[in-house]
Amino acid sequence: MAAQQCEMCGRPVQAHDRHVRFRLPEPVLAVPRQEKTPGSWLSHDSPLTSVMMQVPSVGAFVRALLPISLTGGHTVTYGLWVAVDPRDLQRALAVWWEPAYQDLRLDGALANSIQPWGLLAAPVSLAVRDPGQTPYCSASPDPQLSRVLNDQWPHDAILDSLP
Ligand SMILES: [Zn+2]
Repeated sequence: MAAQQCEMCGRPVQAHDRHVRFRLPEPVLAVPRQEKTPGSWLSHDSPLTSVMMQVPSVGAFVRALLPISLTGGHTVTYGLWVAVDPRDLQRALAVWWEPAYQDLRLDGALANSIQPWGLLAAPVSLAVRDPGQTPYCSASPDPQLSRVLNDQWPHDAILDSLP
């Protein structure tokens, strides 16, 4: 059976609801030993499975989901890193596997670039939607990031930009 094609962009329909999970925050990628920097802490065995990390003199980071709505009801979801105050990392760690996690709210800055916009270091607020998932990027005082979170986007612009 032939794959169903999208009427808007011609791609197979199943090629739209993509998930992209960044391995490391860009500031950590930029230091020579990355997450192997002495004194680094990761919540899990590897950067890809970790949901929190701290790297000395680089910063503290929490993983978050950033969904981008495409026209026609599809969603591209980024699993990216958000830089937070180290005290907020401790606050998150204290509740992450507890019932209080669902009330966790954090403010930080994007630590990965999202193409085609960029948006590295854009301020963002995080909120928990599902206790089984990392927090979601919920709002931003940055006008461009706010549009990314709230608008619907054409398929080609977003899907052509995926890593
Ligand atoms: Zn399409």
